Amino acid sequence: MHPNDPSLRSFLAIDPASDFPIQNLPYGVFSTVGTQPRVGVAIGACVLDLALLETEGLIDLEGATDVFAQPSINAFMALGPELWTTTRARISQLLRHDHPELRDNAGLRQRALLPLADVTLHLPLQVTGFTDFYSSKEHASNVGVMFRGKDNALQPNWLHMPIGYNGRASTVVVSGTDVHRPRGQLKPPDAAAPTFGPCKRLDFELEMGVVVGQPSAMGGMLTEAEAEAMIFGFVLLNDWSARDIQQWEYVPLGPFLAKAFATSISPWIVTREALEPFRLHGPAQEPLPLPHLQQQGANNYDLRLDVDLRAPGASKPAALCSTNFKYMYWSSVQQLMHHASSGCAMSVGDLLGSGTISGPERDQRGSLLEISWNGAEPFDLPGGGQRTFLDDGDTLTIRGWCQGDGYRVGFGAVAGTIIPPR
Ligand code: CA
Repeated sequence: MHPNDPSLRSFLAIDPASDFPIQNLPYGVFSTVGTQPRVGVAIGACVLDLALLETEGLIDLEGATDVFAQPSINAFMALGPELWTTTRARISQLLRHDHPELRDNAGLRQRALLPLADVTLHLPLQVTGFTDFYSSKEHASNVGVMFRGKDNALQPNWLHMPIGYNGRASTVVVSGTDVHRPRGQLKPPDAAAPTFGPCKRLDFELEMGVVVGQPSAMGGMLTEAEAEAMIFGFVLLNDWSARDIQQWEYVPLGPFLAKAFATSISPWIVTREALEPFRLHGPAQEPLPLPHLQQQGANNYDLRLDVDLRAPGASKPAALCSTNFKYMYWSSVQQLMHHASSGCAMSVGDLLGSGTISGPERDQRGSLLEISWNGAEPFDLPGGGQRTFLDDGDTLTIRGWCQGDGYRVGFGAVAGTIIPPR
């Protein structure tokens, strides 16, 4: 049976509300006390130790060795899409309720299946490059209206290519990592000169991250099929942003330090294959993109995204946003085709941020810049207090999942707490 078959069951009891049923099998990197970080797969409330299964000879990687006994997924990704598929099918088989190999080997099961509560999760990939796009028409329009007025909401190039910039790989961190409030040059529009100090308008950006699992040649271009085949999977991504630093620094070369201090991702990479049942076509593209960016496939996903903010000491979080990845105007496949189109080589471990994901409704705005309309419209927190941007001690959490019939393919969460400058 195909690993995505909705009728598949594991020998492990899995809550229907779990993000990690047998139809998902997302990859991450974990360790336990006194052991080295290695690759595992989330299943229900456990992590399956793939390094152990590789050592025990239960997973065959066609001659490659020590693929999973590594602190990142990169070595496995480098093996290519055919092995991604066969390995996922093999892991699915090993976890099935009607397959005895692991089910009936109590000793191995005990060593290979570890409670998630007992492990530390690490950054799942070695990020070789981080590129951040700007591909939600609703987000770009909201920001454009805010700063340029309704008649110039979208820049003239926006409908012709996925706009992006090269970010920093060095400060991509895993969920749970505290984020120091950044410092930078600040110059409010009415100030005569800039000052240097802590950011006063600290924001989040709700994004998905594409994990690139195969390289492309310098000087080459990518077809739609080639670009799709290079995508290993997706993570939740929070692209923390310092709005006041950005406002002063971005002319004329674009965002720099306002985006470079931290980017948080979820610990689990959900594979492109696991998301296959949830594909759909994105919004109609008018005008039609140039031929090298045109796509035929349903390259968007019906993927629900929720964001909440917990103030320090608050008994419950404030729901900030509930939207869907399906609204994105430019797909991840088009972003990759565009990225390579000048001759830029893509690498194993490249991370592409989708850009802030906002939907058409007011409660679907994926940043505080939009939610508070650049600080003009504060919002109330449950239990008292207000916010326009993030305070020290605030915890921001993004969750995401695709809802199947009786199961969900989920990403877990990406969370981070703001702490004072170091
Ligand atoms: Ca961003």
